[in-house]
Amino acid sequence: MHATLGIATVYRCIRRFMEEGILREIHLPDVGTRYEYVTPEHHHYFHCNLCGHLYALAGCAEMLESMLPAGFIMESHEIILRGRCNNCAKPRNITRKESGKK
Ligand SMILES: [Zn+2]
Ligand SMILES: [Zn+2]
Repeated sequence: MHATLGIATVYRCIRRFMEEGILREIHLPDVGTRYEYVTPEHHHYFHCNLCGHLYALAGCAEMLESMLPAGFIMESHEIILRGRCNNCAKPRNITRKESGKK
């Protein structure tokens, strides 16, 4: 396999996958544009402020619809939770590497 693909090739593939409904584009403020596989399950994201990882979360806040004024129809929404992932939430002062792993 080729380890390196031209960026133009990558984008051409992404565009085709999006046309075919395999990938979709998500725009996240501060994070930029990401692509993900289209899954039937509706979900949201957790963005770790420290490591920058994006985690897909299951489920949704169900009260969103009830926030709408009468007569409004919500067609889509995006929610990004921010904070620290379980790796980054660990205390940092005990992460020095062991020398000589066995
Ligand atoms: Zn993290
Ligand atoms: Zn949702």
